[in-house]
Amino acid sequence: MKKITALLLTLALLTAVCLTAGAATDEKTYGAYKHVFIIGVDGAGTYFEKDYMQNFHRIFADGAVKYGARTETKTDSGPNWTSILTGVSYFKHGAENGVVCLEQERVFKRYPTIFKITRDAMPGAELASICNWGAINMGIVEDDIGATKINAGPDDATVEAIVNYFNEGHAPAVFFTQLDEVDAAGHGYGSSSKEYENAMKEADRRIGEIYDCLEAKGLLEDGLFIVTADHGHKETGGHGRFSKLESYSTVAVKGKTVIPGGKMDDDVKLRDIAAISLYALGLESTEWNFTARVPGNLFYDVQGQARPYYRDIIDFICGNIMWIYTNLGHPFDEYF
Ligand SMILES: [Zn+2]
Repeated sequence: MKKITALLLTLALLTAVCLTAGAATDEKTYGAYKHVFIIGVDGAGTYFEKDYMQNFHRIFADGAVKYGARTETKTDSGPNWTSILTGVSYFKHGAENGVVCLEQERVFKRYPTIFKITRDAMPGAELASICNWGAINMGIVEDDIGATKINAGPDDATVEAIVNYFNEGHAPAVFFTQLDEVDAAGHGYGSSSKEYENAMKEADRRIGEIYDCLEAKGLLEDGLFIVTADHGHKETGGHGRFSKLESYSTVAVKGKTVIPGGKMDDDVKLRDIAAISLYALGLESTEWNFTARVPGNLFYDVQGQARPYYRDIIDFICGNIMWIYTNLGHPFDEYF
């Protein structure tokens, strides 16, 4: 009798395990998420790969990470954060660094951000952008959509503002933050410096703090957690051109329908974060110039969407020239 009971119990347990495993992989990604959290580390490029990024590796041990994601053809902050948040190329939006992003009147061509697209589809949704670099909330995230926009200053103050925001019980559909101090270390000392490494370690601590806060609030059960960088830094510091260190970056994604250890396919651009985020929330962009895609080998149930290159021929041509140039070892950098 004992044997039969044990057998039945084992069978019941196995069935339960199978059902649970099935549920994890059978869930459709489209609309499966209530929250998307995007953590941007300015100037970090592919340095997340380093062993010392312990929180990053802890978090994404069962996530999907692409270290060879392509930036826009101008490896500056304004162009890339704008593309990450709109899914539109730099050639279309033209959001130059610095002044343009700080322009309230927005002299660059405006395209809707994922905040605006989410707001239009979900009038009651909470939206939040809490950044160090004020230009993002000044120039990129729309003013008239009821998003919480906080420019909190130094990275530790930014993280404090983020933790306070979540401690108040907020549960935004779209959350974005940009940490800036890795970029400052890159400009000051170069990406091969000890100062840059220390700044990356600090960023790693902050990523861990934000992640743990979200997990403690239960927001990651239906949340997609993304970490990225707008560009990298040359060994001697600086960015804006086409070397691998400047123009390769990271897209790391964790969520209940993400393939653990997924490497994503070869054609991943930073702007694809817009497509990934919208898809997870069950939304789509109706903007003709939207050329972001959901990569393959990221979600269990998505083979990889086609990128509509025909909508943005200049980006297609220049992006490919840039890729070839980067992989030739950027031999003409000193000339322009
Ligand atoms: Zn930047």
